[in-house]
Amino acid sequence: MVPSAGTLTRLELMTTDTSTPRDFESLTIALEAAEARLQSILQTVPDAMLIIDERGRVESLSATAERLFAYAKEEVVGRNVDMLMATPHREQHDSYLKRYLTTGERRIIGIGRVVTGRRKDGTTFPMHLTVGELQLADRHYFTGFIRDLTDQQLTESRLKELQSEVTHMSRFMALGEMASTLAHEINQPLTAIANYLKGCRRLLERMAGEQVLVLRDAVGKAADQALRAGDIIRRLREFVARGESERRIESLPKLIEDASTLAVIGAKEHAVAVSFRLDPAADLVLADRIQVQQVLVNLIRNAIEVMSEGGARRQLDIATVVADGDLVEVSVADTGAGIAPEIAAQLFQPFVTTKRKGMGLGLSICRTIIEAHGGKIWVDSRPDGGTIFRFTLPAAKGEGQSLVE
Ligand code: ADP
Repeated sequence: MVPSAGTLTRLELMTTDTSTPRDFESLTIALEAAEARLQSILQTVPDAMLIIDERGRVESLSATAERLFAYAKEEVVGRNVDMLMATPHREQHDSYLKRYLTTGERRIIGIGRVVTGRRKDGTTFPMHLTVGELQLADRHYFTGFIRDLTDQQLTESRLKELQSEVTHMSRFMALGEMASTLAHEINQPLTAIANYLKGCRRLLERMAGEQVLVLRDAVGKAADQALRAGDIIRRLREFVARGESERRIESLPKLIEDASTLAVIGAKEHAVAVSFRLDPAADLVLADRIQVQQVLVNLIRNAIEVMSEGGARRQLDIATVVADGDLVEVSVADTGAGIAPEIAAQLFQPFVTTKRKGMGLGLSICRTIIEAHGGKIWVDSRPDGGTIFRFTLPAAKGEGQSLVE
């Protein structure tokens, strides 16, 4: 868009035929200064930026663009910009330009869109391209501002994957928790039924008569079925207790960072300030990544929810410290209204909730997960209002490295 000094000189000379040699000299100086300013901008602008003419040839590019596409300036200037694009834009760029110049129809100018860039080695990457236009005399120039989206897209896809894993795991755990509670509740009446039936059978053994024989047989079969149901329930509980836990050495700060991003993304309330105080010594833990993230997501969402119900201060503090006995302690503190007294005693029991749409399974799942890891979870009240949930996890003594990225 901004033409080289030579181009401007020509353009200007065509319209300044009355100029004196002195004017010409000062014009040249001004142009040289403008060119120097442009070069200095291109050298220092943090964005990848390039300028093309109406035929799609690169006029100049910023140092960041050279780095991004891994080309030296000389390899690109004067050549068609399509060399920096991936198929299908690569093949079609010339016709895009022609169409715009003949119809004036804007598809990207002033709008910007995500396209695929191509580096010198042929590798491609997602980029956001914004195009500006400049008309000088009867010629068009275009500036492209490019933002590399590789990191952003990687983060987004990693978070999406994590979100679906955590969602899947929380459904699985909710099912398990319900099955376990159900099993516990049903086991007692089943045992009672079996005992009553055994008693009946003993009584029937002392009686005589044809019908008594039929009755004895039926009562015996009913007792067998009650025992069989008990067996099924026992197996179900064992299965749930076994779970599917995959423990590895994990970086606790990374776990926390991912979980809090997930929890905050999903939360409706965003006016919450989040602070992290992570002890560098509380680094590696032996944990099932997805399960511990589920615990954190649960605690953070509960905290955000309670704070969104009122109160001027909305501060979420997440901290870690090294604890005794090769453990690390994680805390999630909020400035909400505190735990409702009527549920405080059974807070970690399943189906205990004060929420209209709550299942009351979150904290009981947290406890199951943390205890399966050999840790503990508990809650403290903050003197100035609010709640602190704390849990411990076994510290891992890796050689300063995580098994997982
Ligand atoms: P749910 O969120 O479905 O109610 P949970 O087991 O996660 O299930 O929570 C149980 C109950 O504990 C909630 O209904 C709420 O009353 C209380 N609770 C949990 N976290 C907090 C908190 N940070 N502050 C105050 N109360 C909380």
